[in-house]
Amino acid sequence: MLLLTPGPTPVPDRVRQALAAPIVHHRTEEFAAVWRSCGDGLARVFQTAGPVAMLTGTGTTAVEAAQLSFLRPGDTVIVCENGKFGRRWCEVYARTGALYDVGVVTISAPMGRAIAPDQLSEALGAHPETRAVVMAHCETSSATVNDVRTLAQITRMQASDAIVIVDGVSSIGAIPFEMDAWGIDVACSASQKALMCPPGVGLVAMGARAVARLKEATGVSLAPLSLDLRRWLTEEEGAGLSPQTPAIGLVFGLVEALAMIEAEGLEEVWARTAGLAEASRRALTEMGLELASEAPSDSVTAVRYPDGVDDGLRQACAREHRVLFAGGQDEWKGRVLRISHMGAVTAADTIAGIDAIAVELERCGLSDGQPGAGRRLIREMLRKGSGNAAGR
Ligand code: PLP
Repeated sequence: MLLLTPGPTPVPDRVRQALAAPIVHHRTEEFAAVWRSCGDGLARVFQTAGPVAMLTGTGTTAVEAAQLSFLRPGDTVIVCENGKFGRRWCEVYARTGALYDVGVVTISAPMGRAIAPDQLSEALGAHPETRAVVMAHCETSSATVNDVRTLAQITRMQASDAIVIVDGVSSIGAIPFEMDAWGIDVACSASQKALMCPPGVGLVAMGARAVARLKEATGVSLAPLSLDLRRWLTEEEGAGLSPQTPAIGLVFGLVEALAMIEAEGLEEVWARTAGLAEASRRALTEMGLELASEAPSDSVTAVRYPDGVDDGLRQACAREHRVLFAGGQDEWKGRVLRISHMGAVTAADTIAGIDAIAVELERCGLSDGQPGAGRRLIREMLRKGSGNAAGR
């Protein structure tokens, strides 16, 4: 089955071979060298000079660890919510924050619309005491990109004490993201999207202000022991290793995936992903499908089903063409199809996906099945070899 889902994404052969390496003990010099090299490679992808915690877990583990580790009881936090993942971050505070008297301010936009800078500015104006702002870069559920660079700048100007925490699970390594240069203090991701590995590692990169906040923190942390990034930081500095058993095999896989990204060049990876996204948007809209997002991300595209078509189209693509797309989530369930451009997805994969959709639309009497300019664009990328990840 070809995975054109926004996570997990296809795992290249090179990475699969690395994953099969014999397991070593994590408290050895041999593994410490691999661990350090993985952390260094990740820092280059996150574009930070700070450390990257590699937690055994998923994207949710990473973001929850960040959400809880930087707050103390009684703090105020702003959460940006424009889809399923923003709602999940609200729920983290509804559960744990409520136990510690955390003041939660939510700013929302409907699915498919980006968070407006003015919304954040207004919330910060009303709550200058804010200690953290949580936002998703790409809200995967609606394939919508939030302008985290501007949101971080606004935070910095209006609440100098607030830590900016970005959920970059479906953006980092796929679309331009410059953590330190954009003033982002904490950025989270996971192994199974742009990083071309199976799920199992949650990543939290911490910039200088975030590290200082953790070091200076006194009193109780909101984070349970296994998610407390302060503990991770001190143990990391002391021993150069993880405080808990790391996902050893996945770390080998990540090192290989990072080598592939480095061989291609991070900016080339961003350009390739953007090219596939642009070509997909053109091909899909030419076939009469409407983009579901007003601010489409280049890492994943969501299109609405036209009248007379339902999620059966996506299921037919999996059954008849062996191409799996993601469906809609929350209020978009059954109403949209999402196609990923992240990681090792190639131009050939994207054509296979677009063609499967064209055939199934034709079956519904809604497309003439002819290759339009969008599909020609992807074929051109394929011919030039510009739509393929290095080493795949
Ligand atoms: N944040 C975003 C933007 C995501 O797309 C996802 C997963 O799709 C998550 C968080 C949660 O990641 P995980 O399922 O690895 O816990």
